[in-house]
Amino acid sequence: MSLSFENTALAFRYKSDKKLKKAHFLFKAMQYPILTKVGMKMAEWVMRYNLPFTKIIKNTIFVQFCGGENLEEAAETTLHLNKYKVGVALDYGVEGKESEEDFKNAVEEFKRAIRFAASSNAAIDFIPIKVTGFAQFNLLAKLDEGALLTTSEEAAWEKVQERMFEIAEVASEHKIKLLIDAEHSWIQKPLDDMTDRLMEKYNKDYPLIYNTFQLYRHDRFSFLKKSHKKAQEKGYILGAKLVRGAYMELERQRAFEKGYPSPINATKADTDRDYDAAVKYCIQHLGEIAVFVGTHNEGSCMKATKMMDEKGIEHQDHHVYFSQLFGMSDNITFNLADAGFKVGKYLPYGPVKDVIPYLIRRAEENSSVSGQTDREYQLLKKEVERRKSSMS
Ligand SMILES: Cc1cc2nc3c(=O)[nH]c(=O)nc-3n(C[C@H](O)[C@H](O)[C@H](O)COP(=O)(O)OP(=O)(O)OC[C@H]3O[C@@H](n4cnc5c(N)ncnc54)[C@H](O)[C@@H]3O)c2cc1C
Repeated sequence: MSLSFENTALAFRYKSDKKLKKAHFLFKAMQYPILTKVGMKMAEWVMRYNLPFTKIIKNTIFVQFCGGENLEEAAETTLHLNKYKVGVALDYGVEGKESEEDFKNAVEEFKRAIRFAASSNAAIDFIPIKVTGFAQFNLLAKLDEGALLTTSEEAAWEKVQERMFEIAEVASEHKIKLLIDAEHSWIQKPLDDMTDRLMEKYNKDYPLIYNTFQLYRHDRFSFLKKSHKKAQEKGYILGAKLVRGAYMELERQRAFEKGYPSPINATKADTDRDYDAAVKYCIQHLGEIAVFVGTHNEGSCMKATKMMDEKGIEHQDHHVYFSQLFGMSDNITFNLADAGFKVGKYLPYGPVKDVIPYLIRRAEENSSVSGQTDREYQLLKKEVERRKSSMS
């Protein structure tokens, strides 16, 4: 097999010339830190003061990184991706809500998304669940610490678990797989424990539930192996979504401020080593483990595909799924799809104002401050030029 992530014709064939130019312009703008900063401030104000700039945001950064404002719009985007054998994990992108009303709405939205995924003719392969969408962050932190809960906190935790199992029950009825997103290390333990209980209940015949392992944490490769052992003992399939981890700066800063050892690997090379080792481990135990390779790292994706080929694993084996965020690393997604691998985009949707925190994170990640835009920008530029020269 000759797989390459350099083929921009394949990578961007789902984009019209107009959309390609728009993306090229956006990534060019994000190379200027000052423009990104102004844009992010504007987005914050839109959110805070209800300013009427949602149209500008929707036509620029929103269309690049989000599937639509509601399920119907996201399904249209999905159908378009499906034409190129790319599926989706349909992600309700609303974040940072803390009231009981918001929690209720989030749970209803997750259930609606699952039912929608089951009835839609679009290939929606997963629904990601952020438990902080319906659980107080501070309550999870207290549980993680092992602190004693008050009676009302105990009731609140009961409610969170009830809601999570309610969502899983709907998912099980409709056979729509759930990815439980990983969050900050100091709230992760109760999430892991609850996810293990979900897997024990629902993963007996096939992997309905996936836990997320952040390999930037130096303890997570051994935790993955422990989780596998537990699954073997209890007789269920381990669903393992592998990511490097999104909260590195925060994790290090908190550890420093509170004076405990950082949970994060000392170097990027250590994280890369653990990530690739985790992928290898999952592929070696395929069947007992179903793996979701969530990364924009070309080397990690390439290694995983090579390992599958060496072991004679079918590209369409339903225990291996690759995924990148919508609007990023199309060169990986569409080339993997073309080579016959199971691959999909994490596709956030939600009202523009509510997904602004998500959009700000994407802008930060892609700004030249963190130096990640260049690869995306160069690929888009290459494709704009290729299309121009093929017309002349
Ligand atoms: C489909 C999908 C789902 C995701 N879901 C989640 C989720 O549920 N929870 C979550 O936390 N994140 C999630 N992420 C984000 C992910 O954790 C990474 O932040 C992001 O994908 C960048 O890592 P990478 O493997 O793509 O690329 P790379 O560019 O190869 O890696 C960058 C990552 O390496 C790590 N790193 C960078 N510098 C260092 C250093 N000096 N020392 C140690 N480690 C370092 C950090 O994790 C950084 O984000 C998801 C990403 C994708 C694509």
